[in-house]
Amino acid sequence: DPRLQGISDAIRVVPHFPKPGIMFNDITPLLLRPGVFKDAVDMFVERYRGMGIAVVAGIEARGFIFGPAIALAIGAKFVPLRKPKKLPGEVVSESYVLEYGTDCLEMHVGAIEPEERVVVVDDLVATGGTLSAAIRLIERAGADVIECACLIGLPKFKDFYKLNGKPVYILVESR
Ligand code: 5GP
Repeated sequence: DPRLQGISDAIRVVPHFPKPGIMFNDITPLLLRPGVFKDAVDMFVERYRGMGIAVVAGIEARGFIFGPAIALAIGAKFVPLRKPKKLPGEVVSESYVLEYGTDCLEMHVGAIEPEERVVVVDDLVATGGTLSAAIRLIERAGADVIECACLIGLPKFKDFYKLNGKPVYILVESR
């Protein structure tokens, strides 16, 4: 797809951010180019439209940039999966392991109904730990994760990859 080159070119790689040795993929330049931003959203919308997707679940924080645009375009509801202590209502939580320590995602109880078909959206998949926690949260609600969708994946995620048995769809490889 000719749109992919523009998407890849609009992602800036920042060495040694936020820590020495880390190559950070910064998606904010892509957001400054409305045509490229739209291309990225459109590619997900074309993939998920007409598939009976009831829910787009976005992972804090950059899943909140792409997820709602996709949800609106396919007529799905948007459910934020948030870092701890941000959601005011009753929540379910899933923790996951980071390089140093652990983190946690929370979802409001009742936001997703049993049997609903869900796509999980984030900007980037690295180890897959974050997406795996998101999948567990959604499955605890009795819903069905159809696919995880990310703009950027490490090369091993290119084309098609499975996480907890669920497919991960990525647009471009991280550089
Ligand atoms: P994982 O759990 O797959 O190892 O890491 C993915 C999570 O970390 C995602 O929520 C993603 O937003 C964040 N992340 C890790 N590295 C990067 C990066 O280089 N760029 C961006 N934009 N996000 C990153």
